[in-house]
Amino acid sequence: MKNKRVGFTTSFPVEVLFAAGHTPIDLNNLFVGGNSAAHARNAELKGFPRTVCAWIKGNFDTALHANLDEVVAIVVGDCANSASLSSMLTLEGLPTLPFAYPPQRSRDALDASIRQLEERYEVTRHQTQKTKERLDEIRRKLITLDEWTWKERLVTGAENHLWLVSSSDFNGDPDRFEEELDRFMESAAQRDPLPSGLRCAYLGVPPIHRDLYPRIADLGADVVFNEVQRQFSMPDLLPDIVDQYLAFTYPYSVFERLEDILPQLEKRAVDLVISYTQSFCHLQIDNIILKKKIALPFLTLEGDWPEPLDNRTLLRLESFFEVHG
Ligand code: SF4
Repeated sequence: MKNKRVGFTTSFPVEVLFAAGHTPIDLNNLFVGGNSAAHARNAELKGFPRTVCAWIKGNFDTALHANLDEVVAIVVGDCANSASLSSMLTLEGLPTLPFAYPPQRSRDALDASIRQLEERYEVTRHQTQKTKERLDEIRRKLITLDEWTWKERLVTGAENHLWLVSSSDFNGDPDRFEEELDRFMESAAQRDPLPSGLRCAYLGVPPIHRDLYPRIADLGADVVFNEVQRQFSMPDLLPDIVDQYLAFTYPYSVFERLEDILPQLEKRAVDLVISYTQSFCHLQIDNIILKKKIALPFLTLEGDWPEPLDNRTLLRLESFFEVHG
């Protein structure tokens, strides 16, 4: 069956799905872009505990309402809760397929994981590679967009976040994505550079609060480095599919993330670091290490429910910028 709608729980080799003629759909983007609080609440009504991350709850209920044929659950290299999320989806009658990033970052093991995916979707490595070449044309444009954020300052941190985070699935339609990107970049090229202000890095999973970037801008700062969103855009452009997903730092340890983060902070002349963590997430432990290893003013923001930022968090942001401005 061609053109299945296939949900997934974090970035993985979508090249295989596009090559097979299917539509991959990043559940996170669908969740946070929709009626996110209702989705998370619905999951709690089905028994998900309060003490489970809202992304997991939201992705669960979003998957059930997205008219999907199946879900690829990234059970190793993403979230400690993904395997249980996958079991809950199976219980609800939605077929799920596991994908694992090998914990040792072994090339052979990752190659085997991608081959299993190719066998499942009946595509050859040659087809996967051809599709990768096509997607890399778009990724090349995203690299320019990213440079326009930190170097030319024609693109805001919020815009950078949205474009890069959406490249996990190219909104399900790479051709349309590219047309919209071209239009955006044509108009951004006509802009005057943004006023210079505090240059922030945003580290960690994308925020559950849709208003975080506008609030940062209201306070006279902007984000010039979106760590994980940039990783989703596969910025290394390595020619081989296995090498590309081996270079993707998010599935591996915090030390691999730091190998990407530290040079980028320097290259982009970042003044301040905002490290986002999600309540009840294991990555909160990695955040302890990030804070120890990064020698810049560092603010940890913890998000929980999909709602606008609360006054306490706004006040913390404001004081952070005041003290370090
Ligand atoms: S924020 Fe953390 S706990 Fe929540 S889905 Fe992502 S990795 Fe899992």
